[in-house]
Amino acid sequence: MSNTTDYYRRNYLYSSHRLFIPESKQKAVNTCGDCRFYITIIGREERKMGCAALIPKYFAMEKKIPAEIDISDFLKEIGKVGLQNAVTCCGEYLNACGLFQPKI
Ligand code: SF4
Repeated sequence: MSNTTDYYRRNYLYSSHRLFIPESKQKAVNTCGDCRFYITIIGREERKMGCAALIPKYFAMEKKIPAEIDISDFLKEIGKVGLQNAVTCCGEYLNACGLFQPKI
């Protein structure tokens, strides 16, 4: 008998019948652009979109998530590396991650 893992990997008919758990469908269908955490970060020279879920107070929903945030506040909370991650981890049309929260 052949390897069953290989059988399912090569069976394209089987791979087209994937099932979604109801809660995961929302995350698979949506993009960062629809997410509550996707906000504008205002720098000295430019504005960039970034993910506010990396800031603990916003992730824990202790404070209202603003539509725009100053870069100095971002740096104070999570530092330079955190800011870099916040800007690169998301994109307007990228698939949402597991932290996705719909906009109110
Ligand atoms: S990376 Fe996740 S939490 Fe951040 S904006 Fe995108 S979907 Fe939202």
